Amino acid sequence: MANEASSSSSLALELEEEHELMLGGESGWVEARTWCDHLASLSSDLSHIPTPHTPCSRCHHPFENWLCLCCKDVLCSRFVNKHMLEHYQEKGHCLALSYSDLSVWCFSCDAYLDAQVILQLRPVYEIAHLLKFGEAPPFRTMQLLQVCDNNEAGSSASTS
Ligand SMILES: [Zn+2]
Ligand SMILES: [Zn+2]
Ligand SMILES: [Zn+2]
Repeated sequence: MANEASSSSSLALELEEEHELMLGGESGWVEARTWCDHLASLSSDLSHIPTPHTPCSRCHHPFENWLCLCCKDVLCSRFVNKHMLEHYQEKGHCLALSYSDLSVWCFSCDAYLDAQVILQLRPVYEIAHLLKFGEAPPFRTMQLLQVCDNNEAGSSASTS
């Protein structure tokens, strides 16, 4: 019927973060993609990565930096000096893992990637989680498709 304009969601977070929304206009919920075309550019050795406390390699910003998943450089976010973004623009390295919340961002897709679903990202996500929290991540329980073999098909012997 009538759409009630009840905007009762009070977010306390958005004070700090509304620097520059690159394109804007998107609704708040960002869904992580489960595939991207740029996974081939991942570093071949993501089993050894810098620690989450590694400073930005350019401005030495000390925390909450991004790890380039293509060359394992550590660079600061666009809320600091945008060095990861510059790195992408210069080198074309589009895949980065946030040491702030361990999310994976693809600059080319302009989207978050689901590191728990994308198999190529799971190892580095796991290692980053281990480095940051000292334990492996609690992976979501994948829903297994139940193979229903219908035994009780059509054997209805109801003869009178
Ligand atoms: Zn991509
Ligand atoms: Zn920096
Ligand atoms: Zn890189």
